[in-house]
Amino acid sequence: MKRRVLGKTGLEVAPLCFGTLSLSPLHGAFPLQKGADLIKTALDLGINMIDTAELYETYPYIKAAMCERQSQHNGAVSDVYVFSKSYAVTAADARGSVEKALRETGLDQLGGFLLHEQESEYTLKGHREALDELVRLRAKGLIRSLGISTHHIAAVRAAAALPEIDIIHPLYNYKGYGIADGTAAQMLSAIAQAFERGKGIYGMKILGGGHLCGEAEARLREGLAIPYFSAIAVGMKSDAEVRLNCTIAAGGEAAPELRQAVAATERHLLIEDWCQGCGNCVKRCVSKALRLNDQGKAEVDVRRCVLCGYCAADCPEFCIKVV
Ligand code: SF4
Ligand code: SF4
Repeated sequence: MKRRVLGKTGLEVAPLCFGTLSLSPLHGAFPLQKGADLIKTALDLGINMIDTAELYETYPYIKAAMCERQSQHNGAVSDVYVFSKSYAVTAADARGSVEKALRETGLDQLGGFLLHEQESEYTLKGHREALDELVRLRAKGLIRSLGISTHHIAAVRAAAALPEIDIIHPLYNYKGYGIADGTAAQMLSAIAQAFERGKGIYGMKILGGGHLCGEAEARLREGLAIPYFSAIAVGMKSDAEVRLNCTIAAGGEAAPELRQAVAATERHLLIEDWCQGCGNCVKRCVSKALRLNDQGKAEVDVRRCVLCGYCAADCPEFCIKVV
């Protein structure tokens, strides 16, 4: 896979990034070795960027995949970049999050660290202390770059205006699924503006969190062709999916049997019937895809849900899963 430069970071990344949310307890709850094997296959096929988050609890998969690759390829992981994120507010939170990511992945340096789910200039102001600490950690060499992830156009615009921010990881798909404050066209315009200002951009949810799986190949090719994206992060759950997506990202033609194998996998949000109706998940969902129904149980609006799985983390009864 040809590499692309990620903004002003100097990092050269493959256009497809492995999004590890798909392996997480919030999603597929993969056994360690199975998840590590998928990442390892992706690395062997040319991916060199891995997206994770403190919330996802996927550091052990990354560590195992990197260790295996290191032992097989005699240390060839120096050009593999791991990007993580957290909800850090204070300097101590930010430092703690970066230290945890380094410790649990076994790395000396992260490709980048992001403030997770920023919404606007106001949330960025609220996380100022954490942002300043990330600037210090970048200067110390513990992270190569810093930035934000977001489902909000307002946050893309706000981050574009901050010189200390290197990276923006915005939600984009042509239908606008999951964009919290506007349309796909408005998001793309904000992304273009950020790109013009030199921000390194890697997209998320190009498949609309699963809604666009029926047209996955076209959407993937479209995402790879958007000139503002250095990479797009895609969650992958099977060997066939990794091989198909890597073939597409390398500009190749996918074998029909790979296409068929991937087309057979559908995803949806499962809410178990032991839901207690506490409403935590409803408050958590920025896509406004959840409500409490007449029986006092959580119910999902599948047209709005982007299968991010974040609501699952706030459920005290462990009754939400992406399956
Ligand atoms: S319902 Fe849950 S999985 Fe769906 S968009 Fe909302 S937070 Fe994400
Ligand atoms: S957080 Fe869990 S228990 Fe509470 S309403 Fe949502 S699904 Fe039900």
